[in-house]
Amino acid sequence: MIFFPHLPTVSSATFSRHGGASEPPYHSRNVGLHVGDDEVRVLRNRALIREELGLARLVSAHQVHGNSILLVDWLPKTDEEHAGYDALMTNIPEVGLMIQQADCQAIMLYDPEHGAVANIHSGWRGSVANIIAKTVVAMTAAYGTKPSALVAGISPSLGPCCGEFVNYRSELPLAFHVYQTQPNHFDFWAISRDQLRDTGVRLEQIEIAGRCTVCGGDYFSYRRDKVTGRFASVIGMVIS
Ligand SMILES: [Zn+2]
Repeated sequence: MIFFPHLPTVSSATFSRHGGASEPPYHSRNVGLHVGDDEVRVLRNRALIREELGLARLVSAHQVHGNSILLVDWLPKTDEEHAGYDALMTNIPEVGLMIQQADCQAIMLYDPEHGAVANIHSGWRGSVANIIAKTVVAMTAAYGTKPSALVAGISPSLGPCCGEFVNYRSELPLAFHVYQTQPNHFDFWAISRDQLRDTGVRLEQIEIAGRCTVCGGDYFSYRRDKVTGRFASVIGMVIS
């Protein structure tokens, strides 16, 4: 699905698992290099995404459920993947920032005033660490971003229907307990929305896809399938 279609200067989308070159159990648009899929097919899938979004390069991270942010201040000669980061940001046009997912969220941010974007990988550990707030603060430091000017998109990901955390008392802070929608189930879309709001992002500028990746078959889901691929959310600025 396309995010921010009303903004011609930014190209941003979450891609379903369909339309790629990989074979089962990675069928078919798997972008993960570390899940057992054939590398040539993965790179083909990544190239398809780059072409569909009109972006010159993709920069991604080998994500670790941490809270480190990579500031991309160069135009890479080829697509790049960097280990150890869970958020990416750039003000370089034509660089697509790619987050890889199988139930975790991607939170995409665009600052139209300063020409900068960010893409955040957040599973429940990222929510607990509030990597969203850390990234907004980093954008303000690097680009002068005002949170009230940001537009934000929350990708398809684990929904409250399937977000069961039986050990939530030890895993989730007390502040998250109000997001419990039924016994042991939590609404992490609402948690991310409120984390964005608390940094100063306006609620009317937050788009929530509202699609659960465990339900239905359009997205890779680790909870559902265990051995599976990763789908992509990408954001970048295009030269018009
Ligand atoms: Zn669900």
